Amino acid sequence: MSTPAYSRVLLKLSGEALMGDDAFGINRATVEKIVAQVKEVAEMGVQIAIVIGGGNIFRGVSQGAAGMDRANADYMGMLATVINAIALGDAMNRGGLIARVQSALSIEPVVEPYIRGKAIRYLEEGKVVIFAAGTGNPFFTTDTAAALRGREVEAQIVLKATKVDGVYTADPMKDKTATRYHKITFDEAFVKNLKVMDATALALCRDQKLPINVFSIFKEGGLKRVIMGEDEGTLVHN
Ligand code: UDP
Repeated sequence: MSTPAYSRVLLKLSGEALMGDDAFGINRATVEKIVAQVKEVAEMGVQIAIVIGGGNIFRGVSQGAAGMDRANADYMGMLATVINAIALGDAMNRGGLIARVQSALSIEPVVEPYIRGKAIRYLEEGKVVIFAAGTGNPFFTTDTAAALRGREVEAQIVLKATKVDGVYTADPMKDKTATRYHKITFDEAFVKNLKVMDATALALCRDQKLPINVFSIFKEGGLKRVIMGEDEGTLVHN
């Protein structure tokens, strides 16, 4: 049997990934599908840390957040990621994995605080670590948290799970002639203004020489193919 291309990865899941076809919130069947994909690679001995977004929860309250002070709205967004992290961790534990949630914001009775050394230890023990509350700072995104935590736990790659299976020359939903980039450099992604991650996250990955693979978590076996180093999604590299 061939061996995985990576032994420790940081998986970035947007909140929308948990939503399925619902308008907002957490779709149980969708979460279970994600857990199954994670389990498949965890059983191969790959260590998995996850940064979860909050867009799916925030959608339900965004009308109320309109006109709010940006920092306060961002704190709400970070708390939304905590809700997702608890739901995902619970689903992982039910699905036969052992998950630990660590939060960048201190809410200790609910989840553990982020402690880098402890997170690394959990990964070494084969536990899935879910990082909640992004970076813990307003004005940032969970994409940036993924780049930061990925580097901190010494992941070899950031796997950005999206609904589209990679980075395309144009929006493949609107333009049938759009083609997928198999590989691109960080500099090309900047120059062409490709939607890989936000600029802060992209710059951090480039500076830290931390590659990113954008892929679809909804393609059967997609995560495993990325882990095996197959041509799946788009690899963004130095
Ligand atoms: N957020 C933040 N700081 C962070 C990460 C997230 O303030 O370090 C807030 C921000 O308001 C963001 C929300 O949390 O909009 C949810 O994160 P994000 O939009 O990245 O989630 P996704 O779109 O991936 O679901």
